[in-house]
Amino acid sequence: MLFSNPQFEDLKEQVRRFLQHEIYPLEKDLLSKPFAQMEPVLMQKRDKVRQMGLLAPHMPPKYGGTGLSLVELAQIGELLGTTPYGHFVFNCHAPDAGNMELLAHHASDELKEKYLLPLVKGEIRSCFSMTEPEYAGSNPLQMATKAVVDNDHYIINGHKWFTTAAQGAQFAVVMAVTNAQAQAYNRAAMIIVPTDTEGFELVRNLPVMGETGSGYASHAEIKYHNCRVPVTNRIGADGSGFMLAQERLGPGRIHHCMRWIGICERSFDLMCRYAATRQIDQGVMLGHKQTIQNWIAESRAEINAARLMVLHTAFNMQQHGAKVVRNEIAAIKFYVANVLQQVLDRALQTHGALGLTDDMVLAYWYRHERAARIYDGPDEVHKSSLARSILKQYGLDIKA
Ligand SMILES: Cc1cc2nc3c(=O)[nH]c(=O)nc-3n(C[C@H](O)[C@H](O)[C@H](O)COP(=O)(O)OP(=O)(O)OC[C@H]3O[C@@H](n4cnc5c(N)ncnc54)[C@H](O)[C@@H]3O)c2cc1C
Repeated sequence: MLFSNPQFEDLKEQVRRFLQHEIYPLEKDLLSKPFAQMEPVLMQKRDKVRQMGLLAPHMPPKYGGTGLSLVELAQIGELLGTTPYGHFVFNCHAPDAGNMELLAHHASDELKEKYLLPLVKGEIRSCFSMTEPEYAGSNPLQMATKAVVDNDHYIINGHKWFTTAAQGAQFAVVMAVTNAQAQAYNRAAMIIVPTDTEGFELVRNLPVMGETGSGYASHAEIKYHNCRVPVTNRIGADGSGFMLAQERLGPGRIHHCMRWIGICERSFDLMCRYAATRQIDQGVMLGHKQTIQNWIAESRAEINAARLMVLHTAFNMQQHGAKVVRNEIAAIKFYVANVLQQVLDRALQTHGALGLTDDMVLAYWYRHERAARIYDGPDEVHKSSLARSILKQYGLDIKA
């Protein structure tokens, strides 16, 4: 019971049972119908989670959350990851979870009252608008969106895309350059822009891997045309945008990695069930074949390794803060994203043509989770950052 105790095991069992009885049975509909159509059903399930006292498990009770530690949350995150909308039903999904943490740590009392509290209660949604089509997201220092001060307001102009869940969100946290003359990492700030602000244009939901999606399950292209918002909508100090973005991503990567491990476990379970029951010849099951046995054994070892890496990183982050575990965060981000891709691919291959249908959850994940190796920093960026940090200890100082 590493990283756990009997009381917490009971809580995990409660969550497991809830998912099995309330959410897994919905999956067929969730996979075949637009999110917007399924949202009312998911909100009813969310009411049940609220009654269980488990809504927004990552937030402290003073804001209306459950107050789990990062290590506990990671383990609940794995369970929620076993089904596509587990995190949404518990109100700890990206990008809202990261925005809640951001507002709790850095927003004024007025912003907390107006945006954080209804977000934690699950009454509204939000989005995070940083990446721009014209500039490499891997190096956001190049970003062009600007916020210019006009008396006590900002006027924001810019072009963003891949703003996840913008459709139906009440506000966007927009990353914009506020002082182009400042030192590179002090040029930007994060500013809340309500989506009903004049000049906020949701151009389109992007078609991603064959799906345009809707509502929370979509990624938008957005234009900000002279959007005027009070200067008091800024989160934290002027020039703190990049620092806050880094801080936001730290726990966010733990959340993503544990969700991916949940996906791996579910895919692994499906793979093993099919291998044990799919007859390919008289008395010969798929699981008799050594190739399938190799996939099962390799997947088991990789998932176990990934989980221990992530929990160890979460534990160290909890004890010593995000800065100390920068290298570990970089390592889990690319390592677990690749384990996810491998395990999912083996599970899908094991199912043959069935694996490609939306009669089961594997194809959905295959489409949606290829992105894991790109968002929150592509593999190559994390590998380079980790290697540079290691080489520095050997006297070779390579600038990013
Ligand atoms: C599903 C999904 C959801 C997203 N949600 C959001 C969101 O809610 N809000 C938001 O602001 N953004 C979001 N993003 C955007 C995401 O953060 C960016 O896609 C990511 O930062 C990479 O930026 P880019 O796409 O511009 O790729 P680029 O920076 O143009 O990089 C292209 C490729 O070049 C390679 N590369 C880049 N840098 C290096 C390097 N230093 N060394 C070697 N190779 C390198 C990598 O292979 C990379 O994939 C989302 C993306 C996806 C796919």
